[in-house]
Amino acid sequence: MILGVIKEGPTENRVAISPDTVAAILKLGIEQVQVENGAGHNSSFGDSDYETAGAKVVSRQDVLKNASLVASIHSMPDEELSQLSDSQMVIGQFNPLTNNDVVKSLNANKVTAFSLDMLPRSTRAQAMDVLSSMATVAGYKAVLNAANHLPSFFPMFMTAAGTIKPAKVLIIGAGVAGLQAIATARRLGAVVEAFDVRTAAKEEVLSLGAKFVDVEGSAESAAAGGYAIEQSEDYKKRQAQAVHEHAKTADVIICTAQIPGRQAPRIIHKATVDEMKKGAVIIDLAASSGGNCEVTENGKIIDYNGLTIIGDSNLPGSMPRDASSMFSKNTLNFLKLLIVDGNVNLNFEDDIIAATCITHQGEINNERLKK
Ligand code: NAD
Repeated sequence: MILGVIKEGPTENRVAISPDTVAAILKLGIEQVQVENGAGHNSSFGDSDYETAGAKVVSRQDVLKNASLVASIHSMPDEELSQLSDSQMVIGQFNPLTNNDVVKSLNANKVTAFSLDMLPRSTRAQAMDVLSSMATVAGYKAVLNAANHLPSFFPMFMTAAGTIKPAKVLIIGAGVAGLQAIATARRLGAVVEAFDVRTAAKEEVLSLGAKFVDVEGSAESAAAGGYAIEQSEDYKKRQAQAVHEHAKTADVIICTAQIPGRQAPRIIHKATVDEMKKGAVIIDLAASSGGNCEVTENGKIIDYNGLTIIGDSNLPGSMPRDASSMFSKNTLNFLKLLIVDGNVNLNFEDDIIAATCITHQGEINNERLKK
């Protein structure tokens, strides 16, 4: 079989497969890796890098015609999906829980699709976990962007001109992105506080040298697979009050709180932003799912009464070389499970295959998506 790699659309700099994983993919018994010309350009990978690694660089049309399995980050346009035959498959990060149109389109065209963002968050799936990889990049870049926009230093400085206080950073949501943001902000010398509804997050926050903001009585569910769940109205009020108090003195707030398949929880209200310091920066990574901050505008950097509020959920695309390499290694690890003797083995008894296969032969068998 041939594995194809296509170039992403104009708003995406990453590429699903980087040259450094081509040799390992070929070792799975795959006949050839065909890469669309220019696919890696925006991630700083040249066509010659792919050729040196053992791939063949061809036109997009040839990739779509020849490949049994097409790898991309986002789904390809409908008119291209409709050109694929029933036996062709696609793999990527299609965001099916919130992107109904993609699911409808894949299904209508009877494409077998694997979406790596649907992986179970289990130890066995960890090496394939694109969400963790991309959240790592996002958490890191969020802090760098905040430091760039902040009109003051992050670390404490003792200078002849006097002592400069360290920046105070508040992190909302201590999952993968939040923990990486804590570590990065600490490395830059900031004083960091973090908040999460999952009690398990407290220990991780403390182990990174940050302070945990406690709001007691959060709801958790073992059935949520480690994810957060929707909170009660009473909890939300007490949470908003606690965040309000800590936000008033913060120089930077990094918002990372998400609930899979749902609108992001609204945690920072306009009244809180109104009381924050001039010059403070809010980076809202949850912007594309509604934002944790009421004032956030998705895809925009706004000046709100002297504060900078950045709504950016696509930070992985701003560090495309490493983000692509990580995405590609995750994809390779998934392919090691999916491909047996050089061919796709659709073993739906395997929980990872069952969870990631979102459409197959014109049907949605995926339990999470059906719900
Ligand atoms: P996510 O992106 O879904 O959410 C980010 C964080 O926001 C989470 O920590 C969540 O608890 C928090 N959050 C949600 N609602 C909130 C609210 N109202 N207030 C404050 N915080 C709120 O999460 P993620 O980073 O993808 O991680 C989700 C879970 O998966 C975590 O438990 C993480 O440890 C686990 N995980 C497991 C594996 C694995 O074992 N393969 C890999 C990565 C993550």
